[in-house]
Amino acid sequence: MAKAAKKEKSGAEGITWDLSDLYSNLKDKKIQRDIKDLFQKSEAFEKKYRGKINSPKLTPKFLLNAVEDLEYISEKIGKLLSFAYMVFAGNTRNPENGAFLQMIQEKSTEARKHLMFFELEWIKLSNKKVDSLLNNKILFQYKHFLEQERSYKPHKLSEPEEKILDEKANTGSRAFKRLFDEILNNIRFKIRLDGKTKSLSETEILALLYDPDRNKRKAGAKSLTVGLKENSHVLTYIFNTLVQDHALNDRLRLFENPMDSRNLSNEIDKKTLDSLMTSCERNYDMVDTYYSLKKRLLGIKKFYDYDRYAPIFHDSEIINYKKSKEIILGSFHNFSPKMATIAQKFFDKNWIDAEVRDGKRGGAFSHSTVPSAHPYVFTNYTGRMRDVMTLAHELGHGVHQYLSRQQGYFQSDTPLTTAETASVFAEILVFHKLMETEKNPKIKLALICGKLEDIFATVFRQVVLTRFEESLHHARRDKGELTSENINELWAEANKPMFGKSVEMSDDYRNWWMYIPHFIHSPFYCYAYSFGELLVLSLYSKYINEGNVFVPRYIELLSSGGSDAPEVLLERVGVNIKDPDFWQGGLDLLREMVDEALALADTLN
Ligand SMILES: [Zn+2]
Repeated sequence: MAKAAKKEKSGAEGITWDLSDLYSNLKDKKIQRDIKDLFQKSEAFEKKYRGKINSPKLTPKFLLNAVEDLEYISEKIGKLLSFAYMVFAGNTRNPENGAFLQMIQEKSTEARKHLMFFELEWIKLSNKKVDSLLNNKILFQYKHFLEQERSYKPHKLSEPEEKILDEKANTGSRAFKRLFDEILNNIRFKIRLDGKTKSLSETEILALLYDPDRNKRKAGAKSLTVGLKENSHVLTYIFNTLVQDHALNDRLRLFENPMDSRNLSNEIDKKTLDSLMTSCERNYDMVDTYYSLKKRLLGIKKFYDYDRYAPIFHDSEIINYKKSKEIILGSFHNFSPKMATIAQKFFDKNWIDAEVRDGKRGGAFSHSTVPSAHPYVFTNYTGRMRDVMTLAHELGHGVHQYLSRQQGYFQSDTPLTTAETASVFAEILVFHKLMETEKNPKIKLALICGKLEDIFATVFRQVVLTRFEESLHHARRDKGELTSENINELWAEANKPMFGKSVEMSDDYRNWWMYIPHFIHSPFYCYAYSFGELLVLSLYSKYINEGNVFVPRYIELLSSGGSDAPEVLLERVGVNIKDPDFWQGGLDLLREMVDEALALADTLN
């Protein structure tokens, strides 16, 4: 798919980033100088502060110096790592790039060994001592960072124990994660397409599920299932092992429920999460209504799981990169000229790598790098509507990261739950601008259906995935090792409520838990997507209701980065995520979109 689109000019040819604000190239003399400086500073840090943080004599000034030194060192590591990573992403086939990244990763791990004691000493201090320190004005700036570190107090082991666990994980859990990737990357999915037998990668086979030709979607689904089933023995074993490893960690670190450790790092409490999940589940009928409409539009009698991503109308128009830039900057400008000015910098100063080229990594991201530099956006632009949305998404991240640099390295990043706020908000701005300017009802319907399907995938599907994970972890704890069929059953049960009456679940679909990387790499990650999407829908409806007074508050929210807990920062824009009814607001907006799609479809008949 990407290959075919590449032949047609997208206007992104030659759009590459200029990383020289970090380093000029791999041979840049500053790199060796920075590595040397990193080690000198890390060793000096250990010498100066070890044994003096967990001490009754610790003064606010001394602690401030320690945090500032630590931040300086961490930023240095961050700069080297982000440069190495971006060079690698730009051309993964050049072995020099891979070796450079590996070298920088090893150096960082080595340097971090000198720094680990700080956190462990800091959490050992008594609450009374910590309170008196944190009440001192000079530490206000780092208060949230220091408090966050302390929240791990009940779950940390001793320094030697932590070091052993970390080292053993390389041949334990991390090895199983890597094995999962290796297996998935190496499965060749056999399929007959256009009279020829082909063997495709996972990405290519999943792309077939979006094909307008139903036979191709069906064949893709079948082939995916066959490939997964051939590997189900070892994949099931990997799942069992990692789920059990999670249970072991929870026992050692005193986490009661499988989800607790994730909730802690997400800075979200169980009650808030429960109301998010149950609110979504109460609205599953929307999915049912929407797929009934889609079934009608596609003229399909029995609508199967592999029909869900079929395009409603086949659009083949290429949107030139320049045009895409205009659309995005225009939508940003309508909302906030400041936001547009920042996004403009990315285009003007070559902070974007947009062209498709051999050896370049797939996908898209915005890398915050470090506060002393600026973020960079990475994407593979082929000129589809999806690419315009992706570019808007990443630029949303970029603006957020650019604004939050003022919080410094330790407090600029937000937890997962709010990390997608600016990106999803940017997409919504572009979506509404396109809807306003488009006159053709058919294209409008295609736009709104595309948006709805994206939102369903981030809101409802992620709740399903989270429910599945919960049941998987509990089943392993209660019943011991599980068979593939046991897990198939849990997966089918979790999906049923969302599929409702309109989508038929094929037998093949029961195996499709096997390829989802989040379950392996970051357990319980998925609900953060639902959180982010519903939060943004609510923020957007606030903007609609309040008008321009909302804008500076929103910019302020982005600028505050991770300087406080999400609930505190959101309170300032008038959002209370602890209110159990809060989530329904976003869901109501979604329901309005479904109604709009139904009405548009009626006008076409
Ligand atoms: Zn994102």
